[in-house]
Amino acid sequence: MGPAKVKAREEFARYLQENGLKGSQQRSHILESFLSMPPHLSAEELHRQVATVDEGIGLSTIYRTLRLLCDAGLAKQRHFQEGRSCFEQAFEHHHHDHLICVSCGRIEEFICEEIETRQDQVADQHGFTLTHHRLDLYGHCADCKPE
Ligand SMILES: [Zn+2]
Ligand SMILES: [Zn+2]
Repeated sequence: MGPAKVKAREEFARYLQENGLKGSQQRSHILESFLSMPPHLSAEELHRQVATVDEGIGLSTIYRTLRLLCDAGLAKQRHFQEGRSCFEQAFEHHHHDHLICVSCGRIEEFICEEIETRQDQVADQHGFTLTHHRLDLYGHCADCKPE
């Protein structure tokens, strides 16, 4: 377990305590699964993973806990595609942009210094002071490329 995971656990424990919520075995199973999975996942994917450890946890508990993880700053909810909600690791997960496959829903992260720099320049030219940005590129991934 890496130091970021240890800190994420501590952060969640602190959040629960500050909000008068109890830590439970279910919550910790969900947190551990969330932290061990790829950085973007749906509640259903998390549910399947959690079920390998604890079959008794329902999808509604997964959703409730994901909401807590978002409040605690450990996860961020995104809607890359209509009707599909996705949860992204947010704890010490640094800025990046996304490539999203419109056929299979695969999400890849990338960071391109050139694009970052150009964005700053564009903002500058318009007298903008940037606070943040999102860049989501949509298309077909290598596996789904149309013939
Ligand atoms: Zn694809
Ligand atoms: Zn991401």
